[in-house]
Amino acid sequence: MSTRILVTGGAGFIGSHYVRGLLGPGGPGDVSVVVLDRLTYAGNTANLAAVADDPRLAFVRGDVCDADLVDSLTRDVDQVVHLAAESHVDRSLADGGAFVRTNVLGTQTLLDAALRHGTGPFVYVSTDEVYGSVSAGSSTEDSPLLPSSPYSASKAAGDLVALSYAASHGMDVRVTRCSNNYGPHQYPEKIVPLFVTNLLDGLRVPLYGDGTHVRDWLHVDDHTRGIELVRTRGVPGEVYNIGGGTELSNTDLTALLLDACGAGPEMVERVADRPGHDRRYSVDWTKIRDTLGYRPRYGLAAGIAETVEWYRINRDWWEPLRAASGPVRAEDAAPSTQPLTATL
Ligand code: NAD
Repeated sequence: MSTRILVTGGAGFIGSHYVRGLLGPGGPGDVSVVVLDRLTYAGNTANLAAVADDPRLAFVRGDVCDADLVDSLTRDVDQVVHLAAESHVDRSLADGGAFVRTNVLGTQTLLDAALRHGTGPFVYVSTDEVYGSVSAGSSTEDSPLLPSSPYSASKAAGDLVALSYAASHGMDVRVTRCSNNYGPHQYPEKIVPLFVTNLLDGLRVPLYGDGTHVRDWLHVDDHTRGIELVRTRGVPGEVYNIGGGTELSNTDLTALLLDACGAGPEMVERVADRPGHDRRYSVDWTKIRDTLGYRPRYGLAAGIAETVEWYRINRDWWEPLRAASGPVRAEDAAPSTQPLTATL
């Protein structure tokens, strides 16, 4: 019998990549997927177009905080991979409430339902930002959580609540903490797609502060393969860092993006730094490498070149998103199961 997996946030950047991988040619085959996504400004059913006609996929538009809906969905699946979140640090500085609601209350709502129905493994997709800024060395899974932004604090809270269900109830909860992702289908507010789409439109790119902030850049495909390893082979109650991309300052990343887009340094505009901007993230990913055999496959230059090319030939995906001003929220969307093809 096939494994039924509830993927929350499956219409977002990473979630849709994960779902396309599950149902695609290299996927496990013996799975069916229910995507639960509220379709906030960041959710886009076009991200699932490649698998929309797959009979193994069901799409439910709804909120992870909707306890009745979440209860009925977790009852009918075997496992949960929880990616739904408010995910943009800048937005969290303007409105922390939405972040605490979805990232903390939504996580606890899902955990409660999964506990009631014995649904597991429950994979909570956390982030390396929960460790806060790391001046030297790399965070291990045992490092303290010292988040700086309302985004990372809400992710850390969800992360700890998830682990508490393992400790208190013996639930099969597994947590991943991954570094910064890039790749196709990323909403053009994050640095890579924002800079690429600006440059493709002949616009300058806004670089925060002194540009020395360092991130580990990992292709989204490497992240989702790590999540899949944790779902299929991880140990209940364990945390797995996922990294192994390329550590780069924002200035160096910008230079790479300018080069890939055929633009010069005059296209960079220095802007005031983001408040509380963490200087550096770095995860030690030895554990997932040594215990689950994880290895990143993408080199940064090739991954960025491929990503730029995707944005170059998929203007119809991102132009409407850039044209829409500000967040387009599905505040009052009633939960509904709908054929994906109807919303593409
Ligand atoms: P994203 O913003 O592209 O997608 C989030 C998805 O969640 C969207 O489809 C949105 O509609 C949905 N969503 C938001 N609120 C919801 C709610 N209340 N109910 C149901 N659905 C809701 O984000 P992403 O970059 O794909 O990130 C996915 C997950 O991975 C997040 O949990 C994030 O914290 C984590 N993560 C992201 C990165 C990164 O670099 N992007 C790195 C590590 C971890």
